Amino acid sequence: MFKQYVASLNGVIMRPYAQVLEQLRTAGLRPTRQRLALARLLFENGARHVTAEMLHAEAQDATIKVSLATVYNTLHQFTEAGLLREIVVDPTRSYFDTTTHEHGHFFHEGTGQLQDIPGGQVHLAAMPNAPEGTKISGIDVVVRLTAS
Ligand SMILES: [Zn+2]
Repeated sequence: MFKQYVASLNGVIMRPYAQVLEQLRTAGLRPTRQRLALARLLFENGARHVTAEMLHAEAQDATIKVSLATVYNTLHQFTEAGLLREIVVDPTRSYFDTTTHEHGHFFHEGTGQLQDIPGGQVHLAAMPNAPEGTKISGIDVVVRLTAS
């Protein structure tokens, strides 16, 4: 790993490992060996979108022994804890996004690749009224692309 240290927001230098550990603790997740290993793969490589299969393959490349089912469970636990955002692109495929604030995505149907839409480029002209007893908690925008 070429990046040994990262600066946290308050200017204190922390090792990435410590940061990931702190993220898990803050999220109320026990930092098991597998969770830590998967969290490091997820959060120490910049902003990214991964499927469970992609992360499982990365874990195997890094000789981390973990089943695909555990990768699925861990991704869902991280999502529930607010560390990831799930983007469902079709009924058989979800991406997990390390960028958790609301933003839109381009989905390349040919390649299956997911890409962030740069901020401020999606404007919704009108919003539906939320059904009674509910409120809108978020909007997922996925713009589907094919080759022109
Ligand atoms: Zn994204």
